Amino acid sequence: MPKVVHTIAELHKILQPLWRKGEPVGFVPTMGALHAGHISLMKLSKAAGNVLTVVSVFVNPLQFAPGEDYDEYPRDLGGDVKVAREAVVDVVFAPSVAEMYPRGFVTWADQDKLTEKMCGEHRPGHFRGVLTVVLKLLNIVRPTHAYFGQKDYQQSVVIQRMVTDLNLEAKIHVCPIVREADGLAMSSRNAYLGPKHRIEALVLHQALVRAQELVAGGEKNVKKLHAEIKRIIGTAKSAKIDYIAIVHPDTLEDVNDVSGKTVFAVAARFGKTRLIDNVIVE
Ligand code: AMP
Repeated sequence: MPKVVHTIAELHKILQPLWRKGEPVGFVPTMGALHAGHISLMKLSKAAGNVLTVVSVFVNPLQFAPGEDYDEYPRDLGGDVKVAREAVVDVVFAPSVAEMYPRGFVTWADQDKLTEKMCGEHRPGHFRGVLTVVLKLLNIVRPTHAYFGQKDYQQSVVIQRMVTDLNLEAKIHVCPIVREADGLAMSSRNAYLGPKHRIEALVLHQALVRAQELVAGGEKNVKKLHAEIKRIIGTAKSAKIDYIAIVHPDTLEDVNDVSGKTVFAVAARFGKTRLIDNVIVE
């Protein structure tokens, strides 16, 4: 059974002996409602030989814009602890909002450029909230290795940049997207989808696979690839596209043509559910 702790003091009691001995600690930050995508990160941490793996479960209010799904976001700590047990995780850190942001909290982490487009453009303040909580969590857990999913591609780039820019110690690992059998990228938000939207949501993966095939067949033209992705997503009646981005994997700048490693990233809403997905095309 993992130890479940709710305060930083309790967590530090567990971690201090490891820090002293310089033993590697693995860390998987999550917002809970754990699924196979999260489990893959926990398993990677275990397999990498970290002496102890910490999973945090914290729905971070700072990264939700007003009107987003902070209140509805699925919360099930009991279920999450069971999942963590199956993944043989050592510690679940589930702080309260007051533990993370006590009265008087006014300091934020922020970043230019990389956060200004894609999800940043459609979710004002989102990355400022993500960066702030991740910086705090990295300072609280002081992991040797931290594991993030490629599922949130822009987030992984933004976090790696912060770690470099602010000389943080943790080594960041970005792990492959885990999908349902039919291709839908696993997400805690998939739980919101009714049967109709669940089927329609498949267009995201289908569009990305099609783009990948076209590139493999020699297509380099960004406009054509963009149009094809848009067309396929558009076959789902309820889909409302937030963005289709065809970008450089490190700078997230739009590419002129698909000649080197390129990221295809999409975000769309199906009813009230906003989903994202991406592929890296070599
Ligand atoms: P979340 O709980 O949605 O904030 O996600 C916590 C971590 O799990 C993030 O680093 C996500 O990128 C990662 N993650 C979420 N879904 C998946 C997935 N389907 N495959 C791999 N990693 C994922």
